[in-house]
Amino acid sequence: MALERTLSIIKPDAVASGHTGDIVARFEKNGVKIIAMRMLKMSRSQAEGFYAVHRTRPFFNDLVAFMTSGPVVAMILEGENMILKNRDLMGATDSKKAAPGTIRADFGTDVEKNAVHGSDSPETAAVETAYFFTACELNA
Ligand code: ATP
Ligand code: MG
Repeated sequence: MALERTLSIIKPDAVASGHTGDIVARFEKNGVKIIAMRMLKMSRSQAEGFYAVHRTRPFFNDLVAFMTSGPVVAMILEGENMILKNRDLMGATDSKKAAPGTIRADFGTDVEKNAVHGSDSPETAAVETAYFFTACELNA
C-alpha cells in the first residue's frame, strides 16, 4: 500500500443541511489525515472546469448549477490507499443505493445531491488537489 492524497469536496447540499462537521468527523474517526481545507463558492467556470470530463453528459448543466448553488468545503485527505478508502467511506454515487453507514447514505439525497465528491484515480487526484490548493497550502 502507498501513502496517497485525494481531493474531497463536501457538496452544497451537505454544507447547507449542516453536515460539514459530521462528515469531517467521519473522516477523522476513520483515521484519515486532513492536510488542507477551505470553504468556497465555486464560480460557474470553476465548476465547468472541474467537471469537464462530464461535459457531454445529459446531467452536466444541472450538475454545474448544483455545485455552484452554495458554498462547498474542499479538503485534501492523506492516508494509506486513500483514494479507494475515501470512495469506500463515501459509498455509491446514488445516495439511495449507497451502502448503510456510508457518507452518501447518511447525508446525501439522490444521484445528484450526494453530499461528497472524491477523486477516483491517482491521475484525477493529482489534477483535482492542484485545482483547489497550491503547494504552500498543504500542511503535510
Ligand atoms: P464524484 O465525481 O462527485 O465523486 P462519482 O465519481 O461517484 O461522483 P460521477 O459519475 O463522477 O460519480 O458523477 C459526478 C457527479 O455528477 C455525481 O457525484 C453526481 O453529483 C452527478 N451525477 C452523476 N450521475 C448523475 C445522474 N445520472 N443524474 C444527475 N446527476 C448525476
Ligand atoms: Mg467522479
